[in-house]
Amino acid sequence: MTKAVKCIFAHIISFNSDPLLNPSKAVTEYAQGAMVIDDIGKITWLGTREDLPKTYAKLPKDDYGKQYLMAGFIDSHLHYPQYRMLAAPAKNLLDWLNRFTFKEEARYHDADHATNAAKHFLNFLHANGTTCAMAFSSVHKQAADILFSAAAASNMALITGKTMMDRNAPDNLLDQAQQGALDSQSLIDKWHGKGRLNYAITPRFAITSTEAQLAATQQLVEQNPNCYLQTHLSESPEEIEMVKHLFPWATDYTHVYEQYGLLGKKSFFGHGIHLSERECTALSDSGSTIVHCPTSNSFLGSGLLSLKHLRQAKRPVKIGLASDIGGGTSYSMLHTIGEAFKIASFNNIQLTALEGFYMATLGNAKTLGLDNEIGSLEVGKWADFIIIDPKATALLEARQAISESLDDSLFALAILGDDRAIKATYVAGKCRHQISSNLNTA
Ligand SMILES: [Zn+2]
Repeated sequence: MTKAVKCIFAHIISFNSDPLLNPSKAVTEYAQGAMVIDDIGKITWLGTREDLPKTYAKLPKDDYGKQYLMAGFIDSHLHYPQYRMLAAPAKNLLDWLNRFTFKEEARYHDADHATNAAKHFLNFLHANGTTCAMAFSSVHKQAADILFSAAAASNMALITGKTMMDRNAPDNLLDQAQQGALDSQSLIDKWHGKGRLNYAITPRFAITSTEAQLAATQQLVEQNPNCYLQTHLSESPEEIEMVKHLFPWATDYTHVYEQYGLLGKKSFFGHGIHLSERECTALSDSGSTIVHCPTSNSFLGSGLLSLKHLRQAKRPVKIGLASDIGGGTSYSMLHTIGEAFKIASFNNIQLTALEGFYMATLGNAKTLGLDNEIGSLEVGKWADFIIIDPKATALLEARQAISESLDDSLFALAILGDDRAIKATYVAGKCRHQISSNLNTA
């Protein structure tokens, strides 16, 4: 039997379903909302302040007035060993990897460095309102272990895995096919399913794995069907050319992963910008997810993903939304939604704010199969939530004065907002980040 321990007052906004499918019923909103949290960090009651049962009247309260209370953001593709290497200018993806990324990732053989980085990485996520993430770790087994420990300490839902690479990277970043698989298995045994943690089997991408490593990855996936798989696919034209050269037998890039049984409902492919009809059909048939990383794609000049192309009704591909730190230029999922809007515009799609916020919360939870636990505010789900100040800056305040609807107000936040708008972040009911100001604690 759990015990109610805290009540939050705010303007509650939560998704019930995809606004694309059912716009009128997609959102539940309580302008004068109240939410009650229990002692294990789950939501135990939700509604209007007027309807708050008397039994909860004397609970300690965090009163956020008219600020928005929403489910925490979920970032389904980013890199922990790149936590501070944002804004590294390069010609393209491969140039960026070789000039900056591999050098930075090599530092993670050092446990002190990895420990310090894990702390900052999680703090940056929380400061930006992200309460769940699926992250690549470095090639070092120990660094992944350190990140799991850090996430466990805040009872955060985190999915990560040791990156596997056995070619086309500096020697100090390479593992070997068998050893990489053994290290991954030992991390799976230790962490997968422990508390709110899950393991993602993580070959970086086809270019940095030999066929022996891809075969070992296939074995890992077969032996651990409940684990996730994360990698990259079809990000830049130069990368696609190199894959053609390395795997001359493959029909296309997706075929390489398909050949090794790596497509499936728990498989997440970062980017997927330049996919053919055949590739989209294979991804759709297998239930795989393409994770759209808009700030990264525009920063590295990788290309403009077309949501319309991926969503074609005859073979819809599941789509996630993510920051791709450090190719991405912001931890903020507000920025990420804003940039997704801009990229969609190039493809003649008008992405609504509701759609963007849905993708960054319940949509990502659904693709991860975690929507019974997180992604929206519902009794029984984890109290992973954020407080957003829609008027966080002078410009936002001026802009909100002419906002005409909830969608319009959220749109302003996506284009003009950033971590300054995230007033508080709660993970499993505990406040992990707060900008102190107008909180009335009673
Ligand atoms: Zn990535």
